[in-house]
Amino acid sequence: MIYCVEDEQNIRELLAYSLESSGYQVRGFSEGSEFRKALEEQKPELILLDIMLPGEDGLSLLRRLRQQASTKDIPVILITAKGTEYDKVQGLEAGADDYIAKPFGMMEFLARVKAVLRRCGKKEQGKVYTCGDLQLLPESHQVLVAGQEVQLTLKEFELLRYLLEHSGIVLSRDQILSRVWEYDFDGETRTVDVHVRSLRQKLGEAGSCIQTVRGVGYRIGGKS
Ligand code: CA
Repeated sequence: MIYCVEDEQNIRELLAYSLESSGYQVRGFSEGSEFRKALEEQKPELILLDIMLPGEDGLSLLRRLRQQASTKDIPVILITAKGTEYDKVQGLEAGADDYIAKPFGMMEFLARVKAVLRRCGKKEQGKVYTCGDLQLLPESHQVLVAGQEVQLTLKEFELLRYLLEHSGIVLSRDQILSRVWEYDFDGETRTVDVHVRSLRQKLGEAGSCIQTVRGVGYRIGGKS
């Protein structure tokens, strides 16, 4: 889940659309108080924060996030029209992980989102994804089936991880491509099928947890 705090509706919708097309879930907010309420209910993986907002501004919201133990490690990308060097320094000093100045292209925006998520993803301590006999340990980059390690290629590992992170949700081949391969929409969707096949083979019986949803894509867990 990515939270996007931006008061300009067209920009907020454009960002949400781009992220959703890349397989992310997004919640948009037009100002800070609504956003802070949502934070208490659910912590996102990433926050996109506009600086100039009605009410409390983005820098102040950022400082507040960094002061609280429960939110201090959530990555934040500042988004703003104020692209001067001074603002950039202030933003980074306030604890932003990255900074992007309007206007910007969607390709650059998505690349930065992915880079920040990748850098910050390494912090997941002790997290284990499971499905039946299958376990995936992001920290040590291991996959175990009934306690025995299975050797996967990097893409097989990332594909499995992406499916496990969205357990119970059907993911389309395009979503999988853009998240795991970071291609855009003209990627070769057959690549996904080839990797799912080899993944199932390597996982043996545990591979049956990866379900093909006809005409849509793949899913792990949930009803078959
Ligand atoms: Ca604004």
